[in-house]
Amino acid sequence: MNELKYCKRCLYPSTKPDLWFKNGICGACHAFERRLTYDWENGPSVLRQIISENKINPKYDCIVPVSGGKDSTYQAWKLLKEGYNPLCVTAPTDQLTPLGRQNIENLKKIGCDYVEISVNQSVRQKINRYGFFNVGDIQWPEHLLIYTIPVHAAVLFKIPIIVWGECPQREYGAGKPEDASLKYFDRRVLEEYGSLNGLRVSDLLMIDGVDEKDLYFYEYPSSDLVEEIGVKGLYLDNYFPWNGIANVTIAQSVGFKTYDKPILGTIANYENLDNYVHGIHDYLKYLKFGFSRATDVACNLIRRNLLSRTDAIELVKQNDGVFPAYYMDKTLQEILSIYNISIDEFLAQCDEYTNYDLFVQDSCGELVLRPDGSPTLNGDFNSINF
Ligand SMILES: [Zn+2]
Repeated sequence: MNELKYCKRCLYPSTKPDLWFKNGICGACHAFERRLTYDWENGPSVLRQIISENKINPKYDCIVPVSGGKDSTYQAWKLLKEGYNPLCVTAPTDQLTPLGRQNIENLKKIGCDYVEISVNQSVRQKINRYGFFNVGDIQWPEHLLIYTIPVHAAVLFKIPIIVWGECPQREYGAGKPEDASLKYFDRRVLEEYGSLNGLRVSDLLMIDGVDEKDLYFYEYPSSDLVEEIGVKGLYLDNYFPWNGIANVTIAQSVGFKTYDKPILGTIANYENLDNYVHGIHDYLKYLKFGFSRATDVACNLIRRNLLSRTDAIELVKQNDGVFPAYYMDKTLQEILSIYNISIDEFLAQCDEYTNYDLFVQDSCGELVLRPDGSPTLNGDFNSINF
C-alpha cells in the first residue's frame, strides 16, 4: 500500500497528473508565488497591441470561449470593460443543466454577441459512453470540444485572437515547469494537456455509428487554416491578475447565479453548475488519484489565505470523493441512462479504474467503504515525506 504524499503548502497529492514538486512544494503553489512578482502594469497595453495588430474582422476584436461559468462571465465582463467587442463562443457541456443555460443567457444580457456550436447529440452520447468505458472519462467529448470549437469559430469568423481565462499550467501546476509561463494555447498544448487520455479523434471511428463526417468539430482545424487566419490563443491571466474567487463576486454582480444548495463532492456552490456529469467525472478522479474537486477548491482557497490547511483537511475529508448518487437535481441513474449505462455497469467500471493502492483494504483485499459507499483514503493528510 502506498501512502499519498502531499504538498507542504496546499493539499495537492503526488498522484495529481502532470504535477511537479520542488522542495516539497507543488508546481501550482510555486506558480502562484511567482505571479505575485508579475509586472501587471504593462499587461493591458501589451494585450491591446496584440489584439490591434491581429485584427482582421472589422467588428469583433476577439473570441471569448465561454461556458457561462463564473470565470467566463468575468472574462467577457473584463474585456467589455476594457473597451473590446468580444464574440462569445460556447461549446455546450455534455448534459447542460437549466442553471448552466440560465448563466449562458446572462452573457447576452451583459452586452456580448454570442454563438453556440453544438454537435450531433446521438454521436456525442456514443462518444461519452466510449470515453467512460475505454479511458475512464465520461466527459471526453466535452474536454475536447471546449478547446476545438472556439478555434473553429476563430477560423469561420476570421477573428484570430482567442482570449482564454487562466492558464491551467500556471493556476493548477499541471505540466512541465517551463509551461508555468505559457503564453499561448495551441494544438501542442491541447494534445499535451487536453485530458485526452491517449484517445485520438481518429480512434472514434471504431465506434459503431460514428463516421468521419460526424467528427468535423472534434478535429482541431487544419494547420493551413490556422496559419492563414493567424489564430492565437492568449490567456487573460497573462495580462490581468487572475483570482477565481473574486471572479465569483464580479460575475454575480452582473447576473451570474450560483446553486442554492450544497453540491455533492465539493465545497463550493459557484462552479461546475453547468453539467450533470461533473459528479461522475469527479468521482472517477478520486478513484484514480485519491483526490478530487473539493481538494481543487480547497487548494485555491489555501493559496489565497482564505482557508487554513488544517481546516481544509477536514473539509476535504468530508466532501472529496463522495459517491455521486445524485448531482444537483438528477439521480445517478437518470444521468447514466442518457448513455445506456446501468448502475451495475457503472460500479464495475469504477472498480476497474480504482487505484487500490490508495485506499484502505481489509484482510481479504476488499476496499473498506465509507458510509456514502466510497472507498476510504489510505493515510493521513499530514504525511509530508518529501
Ligand atoms: Zn501546493
